[in-house]
Amino acid sequence: MTDSFLHKGLRKKLVDELRAKGIDNESILAAIGKVPRHFFVDSSFAQHVYEDKPFSIGAGQTISQPFTVAFQTQLLDLKRFDKVLEIGTGSGYQTAILVELGATVYTIERQRELFIKCQEILTQMNCLPYSFLGDGYEGKPIFAPFDKILVTAGAKTVPQKLLEQLAVGGKMVIPVGDSNIQEMLVIDKLSEKKYKTSKFGTFSFVPMLKGIE
Ligand code: SAH
Repeated sequence: MTDSFLHKGLRKKLVDELRAKGIDNESILAAIGKVPRHFFVDSSFAQHVYEDKPFSIGAGQTISQPFTVAFQTQLLDLKRFDKVLEIGTGSGYQTAILVELGATVYTIERQRELFIKCQEILTQMNCLPYSFLGDGYEGKPIFAPFDKILVTAGAKTVPQKLLEQLAVGGKMVIPVGDSNIQEMLVIDKLSEKKYKTSKFGTFSFVPMLKGIE
């Protein structure tokens, strides 16, 4: 895996594009400028992966579009050392951005093929989240509560177990909808029983599915 001046230049252009599209969190833009996105896709896509588009990563899944990664991360309102649960590791790119921002990351992927592939990439980058093969609907109760929960697959409804594993004062970012278009929700946990939900536009994610494959 090599990171050339060409790749660095393409990342800089991508950062400018994201800034023009309204991403204004400088730490997030710096992380996108730093993490080599081309490590996370097949080498034949290496040049194109710095376009603001999603790409296939195998097993019928996609690496989220850079704007979506930046937008969801911005909504998470990360504080350094936040304990974050990510559902849908996929390529591992969003995971690497969270780690770069100083979060302690627990990430779950349900597809074995993707889980194994991203372990290799993240290890080579010396990026070390706590990674699990599992069903994100279950969360990770033994490590709960989490300051932040980020779901990167489209859920039909907000999973109750994830709400329970969110810390009071915590925040969950989750795309919710019953077709292939979802609404981006931010759920603030105000107390053990009280939540505030805000909406941030429509997106299109692959579906959040039950069980392991
Ligand atoms: N953040 C990833 C997005 C990948 S797409 C990236 O940028 O690469 C969403 C991922 O969620 C897919 O890899 C899919 O297999 C996974 N997924 C879907 N339902 C899941 C579930 N219940 N638990 C864990 N992962 C799930």
